[in-house]
Amino acid sequence: MIRQWAGMYDVSPDHLPLVGPTQQLGGWWQANGWSGRGMLLAPYLVELLATEVASGQRHPRLQMFAPDRFAPDVATVESAHDYYARYAAR
Ligand SMILES: Cc1cc2nc3c(=O)[nH]c(=O)nc-3n(C[C@H](O)[C@H](O)[C@H](O)COP(=O)(O)OP(=O)(O)OC[C@H]3O[C@@H](n4cnc5c(N)ncnc54)[C@H](O)[C@@H]3O)c2cc1C
Repeated sequence: MIRQWAGMYDVSPDHLPLVGPTQQLGGWWQANGWSGRGMLLAPYLVELLATEVASGQRHPRLQMFAPDRFAPDVATVESAHDYYARYAAR
């Protein structure tokens, strides 16, 4: 082994990222909660987000990633299943 590294997964309750503005904090835009798939998803979704910032128009594909899909008063929601289980063959 030559080198190794570790990092934290920012995992959302439904394992989907949070991309866009939120009504909870005016002027705040976010792209996080990638749930271990940020390298895969971020380039495309952030391009859509940048287009939304510039045009004011939300791309339909971003709807399912709206940060406000979670209730603001829920501080922590624990996933009911093992994070890695979804990688297993079905
Ligand atoms: C071990 C591991 C394996 C992974 N494997 C995969 C994979 O195979 N495929 C995949 O798609 N994804 C994978 N991911 C997930 C992917 O790496 C992340 O989802 C992605 O890097 C998130 O990108 P980001 O730009 O949102 O955040 P980050 O890459 O975390 O970038 C955030 C940046 O902000 C900086 N920062 C933080 N706080 C401040 C501050 N206050 N001021 C200024 N700068 C600040 C940080 O230094 C950092 O450079 C893996 C993650 C880990 C940890």
